[in-house]
Amino acid sequence: MARGVFAESGADLQLVGIKKRFPGFTAIENLDLTIPAGSFFALLGPSGCGKTTTLRLVAGLEEPTEGSILIGGKDVTNTKPFQRPVNTVFQSYALFPHMTILENVAFGLRRRRISDPVAKAHEALRLVELDHLAARRPASLSGGQQQRVALARAVVNRPALLLLDEPLGALDLKLRRQMQLELKSIQTEVGLTFVHVTHDQEEAMTMADTVAVMNKGSIEQMGAPEVLYELPATVFVANFLGQSNLFVGPVLDGGGDTIGVEVAGQRISVPKARAQRTTGSVTVGVRPEKLTLHETAEAVPAGRNQLGPGRVIDVSFSGVSTQYIVAIPGLGSVVVFAQNMASGPVVALGTEVWVAWDAQHTFVLADEPP
Ligand code: ATP
Repeated sequence: MARGVFAESGADLQLVGIKKRFPGFTAIENLDLTIPAGSFFALLGPSGCGKTTTLRLVAGLEEPTEGSILIGGKDVTNTKPFQRPVNTVFQSYALFPHMTILENVAFGLRRRRISDPVAKAHEALRLVELDHLAARRPASLSGGQQQRVALARAVVNRPALLLLDEPLGALDLKLRRQMQLELKSIQTEVGLTFVHVTHDQEEAMTMADTVAVMNKGSIEQMGAPEVLYELPATVFVANFLGQSNLFVGPVLDGGGDTIGVEVAGQRISVPKARAQRTTGSVTVGVRPEKLTLHETAEAVPAGRNQLGPGRVIDVSFSGVSTQYIVAIPGLGSVVVFAQNMASGPVVALGTEVWVAWDAQHTFVLADEPP
């Protein structure tokens, strides 16, 4: 689709040495971040970790205690909010109820005396596929449609940066998933830089090209979603992005390209490149879908890591996959996700099993599970 009035691209955002102290509380410890122009960036973390504060700093609604904010290379740290090339979409749509959808979208353009407000508002509504409802009032639209109007209103004046603060939080799960894909395709189309705040890891991974995982006012890890998932750098990231099996044990050996870690009396092999630490006590991690179940130790293909014997203590079928919980003496519970193949066997509750996985799917962390 032609970009039309959305021809301008986004700008990059840099946060340099940002600290934010409120009376009696430090919300942002130290934030250094560069978000390239045109990217879909997600700030992911639990409630209270400082996500909204970060967005408010970028929007100019809070002043940093220390540090600078640059948009498109220009220092805006002391620039007033309305003079920054930034718009924000919140969870609450805040549409004017007495105005039509078209007027809601054109309002900001009219106020700033920007030319062709009606044509630009129609184009923004076409982008979110709501132009046919331009003459309606907000109350007659569904929640998802109102959120799309809020989005059209936020992009109509082509901000270099669009901040999204849990914008889909009020929608039900099915609509939320649909809007995630729509938002992603709108971002690709308009080419603006999107900074999206969420505590939903699936949402962040589905939409963003780069995710920063935030914890207690600092970024623990930042990168492409698949990198964060496959190679988390800390226990917090491993647990926050999906499920992990984490086992603590001492490093036994580490001369070559791999290290060996002792877990439940067995040697677990890990490529050195996937280890945050190669000596002392470490945490070995493996994702549940990387594990396979075997009824004897001999049935485990040579060269794979294995733990066992254990016993299947829970089986829960969920359509495409089955989740098994395997209790291994001296180790605890191991979670295994198995895809349900057309002819694959289902392992029965109570069966004695070994769990196994490839060394290349293992990661080693320096910190320990809480
Ligand atoms: P949520 O997902 O719940 O919105 P969040 O990650 O966006 O959380 P923030 O709203 O940024 O978190 O808040 C970070 C911390 O800073 C919280 O502990 C919050 O209580 C504190 N905080 C935020 N604003 C203020 C303020 N004006 N005065 C004092 N403390 C504040």
